[in-house]
Amino acid sequence: MSALTLGNLQDRIDDWVRAHGGYFPPLAQVARLTEELGEIARAANARWGGKTPKPGEAPVDLGTEIGDLLFVLACLANQAGVRLDAAAEEALARTAGRDGSRFRDLGG
Ligand SMILES: [Mg+2]
Repeated sequence: MSALTLGNLQDRIDDWVRAHGGYFPPLAQVARLTEELGEIARAANARWGGKTPKPGEAPVDLGTEIGDLLFVLACLANQAGVRLDAAAEEALARTAGRDGSRFRDLGG
């Protein structure tokens, strides 16, 4: 089994979505992306912000929610004709160039 790349993740998601009824409209994908981001915020707040789950409420797993966000992001990229690997390479190059000396000692 080969390593999962952004490119083959995106292709596998495309195959799966097309085999299961197709994509939601792009604006609905943006809404889903926002929902998943909210779930990440909820998990982060439980982990670092001190907001504990309500009694009986299952804890939200940060890794699961990041995976969900990535899935929906790949859906939106597929619909927009954006290749995630190329977009990530461009973002890395932009960060290393323009922002190469901006982020120091942030403690993260
Ligand atoms: Mg989720």
